[in-house]
Amino acid sequence: MTYLDYQATTPLAPEARAAMLRWLADDGFANPHSAHRPGRAAAAAVEVAREQVAALFPPGGKVVFTGSATEALNLAIRGGPYGPAAVSAIEHAAVRDTARWFGEDFELPVGADGVIDPEVPFPDEAKLIAVMQVNNEIGTIQPVARLAERAKAAGALFLCDAVQGAGKIAPPAGADLIAVSAHKLYGPKGIGALWVRDGVHLSPVILGGGQEGGLRSGTLSPALCAGFGAAAALSLERMEQDAAHVETLWTAARDVLSRWTLNGSAEQRWHGNLNLRLDGLDVGRLMSECRTIAFSAGSACASGSGRPSHVLAALGLSAAQAKNSIRLGFGRYTTRDELIEACRTLDAAARSQGV
Ligand code: PLP
Repeated sequence: MTYLDYQATTPLAPEARAAMLRWLADDGFANPHSAHRPGRAAAAAVEVAREQVAALFPPGGKVVFTGSATEALNLAIRGGPYGPAAVSAIEHAAVRDTARWFGEDFELPVGADGVIDPEVPFPDEAKLIAVMQVNNEIGTIQPVARLAERAKAAGALFLCDAVQGAGKIAPPAGADLIAVSAHKLYGPKGIGALWVRDGVHLSPVILGGGQEGGLRSGTLSPALCAGFGAAAALSLERMEQDAAHVETLWTAARDVLSRWTLNGSAEQRWHGNLNLRLDGLDVGRLMSECRTIAFSAGSACASGSGRPSHVLAALGLSAAQAKNSIRLGFGRYTTRDELIEACRTLDAAARSQGV
């Protein structure tokens, strides 16, 4: 099986797994919120992990662990006393649907290249501006530093969903709130984090025991925290090396699939994402004929949701073009040879459809 779905989730780094195993061992079960010695040992591991995750962000804020990036984004949006939000047209559903909770939300359009204009007008009423760092469907990198600067000047807070960029590119400068997810940076599933700039006040969305400074109740898992921390530290250590590897993979895949049309900008993009289309391609058939390759249909915004892609629509693609699209995602553990082989297989299968 060749795994080419790195935007959906990344493989667990062996280093992250090793860090987790310590807290899954017989003597690693203590509640990190307990005052006794094993509890304090578990709490210390959580704090080490918090520091490692904090290194993903700019200085001057704190990390709140959550169960996922979806939860972090809910806390950022629902936990603030903001009022209406303005969110880019290509945000993940975790932002779009949560922003709609206000009843009144605004959409910031993107260009045909899948990149938002850094000078896009903000509605006066918007108290929160949310634009992601790297899009999950097409990989386009947004000009978040300039948007954050403008949000500040307009008196609004700036939320950045950095799920796809964290640990891969430099953190978004100037944001007030940043959401990340461990499983997109070679860590475990089931844990995310919200970075909150010092001075930004949020109210909890999940109430209970008052953990995480009262912002997110619920017992933390030391194993998940340790895995997240180790994965974050490794990503930072390997950032250049991983990016160089992804560049090699991108060039190789583009070369084999040169007749396919790229959806979204080639330049302002994380090159571990290839969202491609071929007129007339039957993606369902391609998937069933290429079962040894794990990849996504470009037309569905969340695997299995069946919802048509609002991202490809925002680029101005027709419903047919969106249906003719696939997403290939690769990264640290993808080898050039397996990628070339998989791309050749996909291209040959498409040709056998007559496209
Ligand atoms: N934001 C983006 C850009 C994503 O790609 C995802 C996951 O697909 C999420 C948010 C949600 O992350 P999680 O799976 O941690 O809830």
